[in-house]
Amino acid sequence: MNILLDKIVSRLEKAEISSPRLEARLMLGKACGISADEAVLLRRELSAEEETLLEEMLEQRLAHKPLDKILGSKGFYKYDFTVNGNVLSPRPDTEIIVEEALKLLDFDITQNIADFGTGSGCILLSLLAENKRWQGQGVDKSEAALKVAAENAAALGVESQVSWINGSWFDEDFCQNLKTPLDMLVSNPPYIPSAEIAGLDAEVKDYDPLSALDGGADGYEHYRQIACLAPYLLKDGGHVVLEVGLGQAQEVNNIFAEQGLCPVRIVPDLSGIDRCVILKK
Ligand code: GLN
Repeated sequence: MNILLDKIVSRLEKAEISSPRLEARLMLGKACGISADEAVLLRRELSAEEETLLEEMLEQRLAHKPLDKILGSKGFYKYDFTVNGNVLSPRPDTEIIVEEALKLLDFDITQNIADFGTGSGCILLSLLAENKRWQGQGVDKSEAALKVAAENAAALGVESQVSWINGSWFDEDFCQNLKTPLDMLVSNPPYIPSAEIAGLDAEVKDYDPLSALDGGADGYEHYRQIACLAPYLLKDGGHVVLEVGLGQAQEVNNIFAEQGLCPVRIVPDLSGIDRCVILKK
């Protein structure tokens, strides 16, 4: 029995943290510079420095800072991505966007892929890592987010395949900065209706950037703008692959169809929620 680990677990349990044993292993491992698996087998006393580090992490977690923002990284699809307060934490729900995009991209030729609101870069970089021929453009209005994304690109060894655009699809000259035509436009844009943000879990509303969450009055503001641009940016036969929030799939599908794109399919995530909307030019 690892008494130290059990003590951490019980403190996390009291604060109703949902996976206390896993999180305890990850924090203990991080504090001691060992893997989470090795942390289970740890039998020695901690050094003063390790103890301080662990206590600092625990206090942040007990105050409901998300674990990935404490550890500085989050596993997504096949890789670990660096994260901080400037990016939306990658969610398991979003992996479906990568999986669906991969079914539509051509593995034999170069593909020009843009990611609107790239954040940590988790979607775009996961795609580029699958094929050296593919090129990506990561767009974000947050310069601080693009720094994180660039760090992740280097870690995955795909930096020569990607360029970054610091701007917004609401900017007047936005389209001039993009290399077009696109084979694919992927996006997990902000989609929470503004008035619902105050009611989100503290882990989301206090630690994910507001600019990555706020979808305007009805939550569809970004989809409407991207839908206006998509027909001009995409190649004939090119796809848009979008993440949507709970209950938004049909409306998002309609918004893009009204701009002349052809619905392809709506795909549920692992929890059975319609999460990914795909259309084609
Ligand atoms: N998936 C996030 C959440 O519901 C929202 C991300 C977004 O607005 N794109 O917590």
